[in-house]
Amino acid sequence: MSNLILKDFIFPPLNNHNYLVLDPESKEAVLFDCSVPNDEVIKYVEEQGAILKMILLTHGHFDHVMGVNYFWEKHHIPTYVHENDLPLLQDINSYTHYASLGKVEIPKVDGTFNGNTVFKLGNHPIRIMETPGHTRGCCCFLMDDILISGDTLFMGTYGRTDLPTSSAEAMRQSLKRLFKELPDTTKVYPGHGHPTTIGAERGLYEVEK
Ligand SMILES: [Zn+2]
Repeated sequence: MSNLILKDFIFPPLNNHNYLVLDPESKEAVLFDCSVPNDEVIKYVEEQGAILKMILLTHGHFDHVMGVNYFWEKHHIPTYVHENDLPLLQDINSYTHYASLGKVEIPKVDGTFNGNTVFKLGNHPIRIMETPGHTRGCCCFLMDDILISGDTLFMGTYGRTDLPTSSAEAMRQSLKRLFKELPDTTKVYPGHGHPTTIGAERGLYEVEK
C-alpha cells in the first residue's frame, strides 16, 4: 500500500485533470500537468506544510500546459517535458484552434527528460514510462501503485492518434507495454475522465490484438 497522497485538481474551462502527488514523509509534492494558471494547488501544498518540487508534463498539448508559465513566474516551480514533445510545446499555437482558443503564450520549460531520467518524490522513484502514440513524447508516470496516464490510457478507451506526431502503431505498442509491465492493481489516473485500474482496462489491449 502506498502512503502517497493524490489530489485531483480540475479547472474550467478545459476540465483537464491536474494531479498533485504528495509524499507525507518528505513533504515533497509533484504536480502532473498544469492546465491553467491557478493558486489552488499552491494553497493546498502550503496547507499540508509541503513543498511543490516540480511540474512534470504528460505531453505537450495546450490543454495540459497552459498554467506552466504562471507557476514559474509566481512561484519559481520548474517544469519538465519529454524531449520528443518540446517541439510540440514550442509550436503550441498551431493547434490551439482545436479548442477555439486564441493565441496562447508558449510555455517555458526548464528542462527535458527521457526514459532514462531519474526523478524522485521523497524516497519514491518516479518511473517514466515512454508511451508514444497520442504524441511522440507522451509519457506515463508510475509511483508505487499510482499511474498518471495522461492522454495515453483512459477509462474504456485510449488517446486520439490522428493529431500531429500521433501514431496508431506506436499507441498499440505503448498500451501493450503498459499491460505487460503493470499489475492489475495499478491505479490509473488519466488526463480526462474517470480514474480506473490496469485490471479493468486490460481488455482494451486484448481487443486490439
Ligand atoms: Zn493530448
